[in-house]
Amino acid sequence: MSTVYNKGFFTGEQTKAIHAGEFPDPATGASSPNLVMSTTYIADTDTIFSVEGLEEGNTWIYTRWGNPTIHQLEEKLAVLEEAETAVAFASGMGAITALLFHRLKAGDHAIVTDVAYAALSEITNEMIPELGIEITKVDTSDTEAVRKALKPNTRLVYIETPCNPLLRITDIAAVADIAHGAGAALAVDSTFATPAATKPLLLGADFVIHSLTKYLGGHGDALGGVILGRKSDLVPLRKKTAIRLGGTLSPFNAWLILRGIATFPIRMRVHQENALKIAAYLEQHPKIKRVIYPGLPSHPQYELARRQMNNFSGIITFQVEQGKERLQEIAGKLKVIHYAVSLGHHRSLLFYLHSEDLLQTSFKFSSPAQLDSWNRFAGEGIFRLSVGLEDAGDLIADLARALE
Ligand SMILES: *Cc1c(COP(=O)(O)O)cnc(C)c1O
Repeated sequence: MSTVYNKGFFTGEQTKAIHAGEFPDPATGASSPNLVMSTTYIADTDTIFSVEGLEEGNTWIYTRWGNPTIHQLEEKLAVLEEAETAVAFASGMGAITALLFHRLKAGDHAIVTDVAYAALSEITNEMIPELGIEITKVDTSDTEAVRKALKPNTRLVYIETPCNPLLRITDIAAVADIAHGAGAALAVDSTFATPAATKPLLLGADFVIHSLTKYLGGHGDALGGVILGRKSDLVPLRKKTAIRLGGTLSPFNAWLILRGIATFPIRMRVHQENALKIAAYLEQHPKIKRVIYPGLPSHPQYELARRQMNNFSGIITFQVEQGKERLQEIAGKLKVIHYAVSLGHHRSLLFYLHSEDLLQTSFKFSSPAQLDSWNRFAGEGIFRLSVGLEDAGDLIADLARALE
């Protein structure tokens, strides 16, 4: 077939987002990626029945082992992230738990960012330690704190940059050096940054994770997750976790996410453009106490953000005078922005995070410095705004009405 994807013929990010990984349907020549909903495939009589003998390739046996639609998504993501390969999961948390199960066993130690996506924070507070795996929570934006937390049995350093919800930034290259010096691997949850901003594997990370539910899918209609990295890590990871634990992505969701990714670089430019305008608007608003956005010179790590991010993405957090007391009133006045969790969609989403709640349920700080850092970024609570793709003027007018 003449138009089978071939890496050699293009280098631009937008062309990659559209064409990488995709191939026309061999039976019909259909130009759109083929949505294959079959769970099973007509097999050769010498097909093996254990995943142990499975070769990586384009032979399909059972969809939990591999599927042509999911495969096209994995190939596209690997090209966008400049990774050797990718394994897709049913959700971002499916990808994260698979990585922890793959990389850690009883007796190992891992360093995990002290502020992170809540479900990751919660499983590393209890469920993972109950398996005999020791976890140290560290503010990884402080690289010296990471170095100090290393132990002879540290196998994994796990960071998020920018981290949810504080938007603190971690220096990936510096932390990769520290981890590798101690024989540990570095995993980066790059959901907030996206490959439009940062390619952690090129900065020395060993694993990259995305919740595809967010910017990559981009439309708020499909859960998905992915781990990217080296073949030598991910071929065994697929057998051990995706295939045996079973958190496999639905081919239908893979197809929706593939379709979403086609416009991903264009969308990220608009997310950033809108977010810069809104962050500047909020920063001068009399009822706003503090705005945090990596693209604002007032961000405490603006220099690192500029060095490490080619796009500042679309998440802004801000503290409002009497924010907790005024929450119901503010949410009730929104006419465009949805008051809802999640982020990275074409629709703008706003959600309030109470510090008191989060510090009891998700984030368990062990040092006064960690609590101090939280308080500096979040105060008694923050609004997290995921700036969508609507016209910036409409979003600013909606915020002006709600904050009035
Ligand atoms: C949403 C999110 C996750 C979890 O992804 P799901 O697809 O909801 O399971 C993990 N990390 C970050 C940073 C997220 O924003």
